[in-house]
Amino acid sequence: MASKLRDYLSPTDLGLALLAILSVAILMMPKQWITREYQLPLSEFQTAVFSDAVIGGNSRATMLEKANAWECSLRAGFEDPFCSFQIALVGPDGKGLDLSIYESMTLNLRYEGSANGVRLYLRNRHPHYYVVGDLTTTKYNGAELDVDSLNRGAYTFRLKDFSVADWWITSKSIPMALSHPDFNDVLFIEIQTGSDVRSGEHRFELESISWSGPIVRQSTLYRALVVIWSAAIVLVLLIRVVTLNLQLQRHARYQSELQKINGLLNVKNRKFEELAKTDALTGVANRLGVREVLYRSLNDWRAKRTPLSLIMVDIDHFKTINDKHGHDMGDKVLQVVAETFTHSVRQTDLVARWGGEEFIVICPNTELLQAQSVAENLRGRLANTLVGGAVHITASFGVSTLSDNNLDELFRQADDALYQAKASGRNRVVSADATAPPKLANG
Ligand code: GH3
Ligand code: MG
Ligand code: MG
Repeated sequence: MASKLRDYLSPTDLGLALLAILSVAILMMPKQWITREYQLPLSEFQTAVFSDAVIGGNSRATMLEKANAWECSLRAGFEDPFCSFQIALVGPDGKGLDLSIYESMTLNLRYEGSANGVRLYLRNRHPHYYVVGDLTTTKYNGAELDVDSLNRGAYTFRLKDFSVADWWITSKSIPMALSHPDFNDVLFIEIQTGSDVRSGEHRFELESISWSGPIVRQSTLYRALVVIWSAAIVLVLLIRVVTLNLQLQRHARYQSELQKINGLLNVKNRKFEELAKTDALTGVANRLGVREVLYRSLNDWRAKRTPLSLIMVDIDHFKTINDKHGHDMGDKVLQVVAETFTHSVRQTDLVARWGGEEFIVICPNTELLQAQSVAENLRGRLANTLVGGAVHITASFGVSTLSDNNLDELFRQADDALYQAKASGRNRVVSADATAPPKLANG
């Protein structure tokens, strides 16, 4: 299956498919897989309780025996009586907690008392507003938590729902641009009695505090995916361009090689074609070799009535020559005849060996009479030729001319005339009578 896939898909296709699957998997990933949690190790930090008594009020805060439990007696007297439980977060390095990487906070706090709400402060330090040595200049990022929710168990709320205490903004003359909550360096966590109570007994027990937030923000994740996909698309396009270019180059090389080979083959083809059209013994054209001249001449006749004549030749008593002087002498005779004919006709005429000891001469643009005289000339030359110093040769000639749009008829008439030349004693030229009706085979 895997190898099949590789057959159909290129490595880039596979890469894209993998990236698509990975993208969907990332988007569908359960949130908790990319969430970080931090549980405050309460025992490692210093805690303290205090009340408005420090600024002249009558309230009293007491730490109970149980860890992180405290009691508060709120007493009217101060304008806004309060009790506070404070966790100092500054570590040995002098730094507070950076909570800006978290989205939510979970508080496990039990409360007994008449208040409806509990106030929570995350006091942050930032050079923009913090004055060294004055801890009241830490920003009071506050939230009012309702008691019912708190007492139900772990209460989770968002850090972005905090707001900076008005009294702090006013008393410290904080400009509007700095009036939003920030959590980059939280020095104290303070849990106070709520703003709705003025008096009474209140009991608190803090079990745990934790924060949680995504390792990678959703928006960052989307942005990263967009960047990765854009890069992938650019990469794919780049790969396409490069491979296409390589393919084109390879194709061009292949084409030029093919052209070279074709050129070579063409030369060979032409050679073979010539060979195929040539009679091996005499070097003149064979039956295949006359095709072009015949068709060209026929077309000329059709178009312009350009005459076309044909001389058909058969060597007389050739069998006897073979018998008397041997087959080689017979071959020699054939070669001499071909040579004599080739040298005696015009360049436009075509000498061909028609088979055995038969030859034809195709005479384009030649009337019957002219062809007849060509044939007479050839006959005379042959009659005066002594082959191998011993063999006299003669031949009979039949001449015809094209009178109809019919090459068969041209050949038939020449053949008839040749037959008549043979019949009337050989070594002679007979012209076909163009007007004579077709002869019967036995006629
Ligand atoms: P005619 O005067 O009636 O034409 O008689 P002929 O003997 O010339 O005719 P025939 O058809 O009886 O004999 C032709 C001979 O030509 C028979 C064959 O062996 C011979 N022949 C055909 N091709 C070749 C060839 O390539 N070389 C040689 N040496 N002889 C050939
Ligand atoms: Mg013959
Ligand atoms: Mg013969």
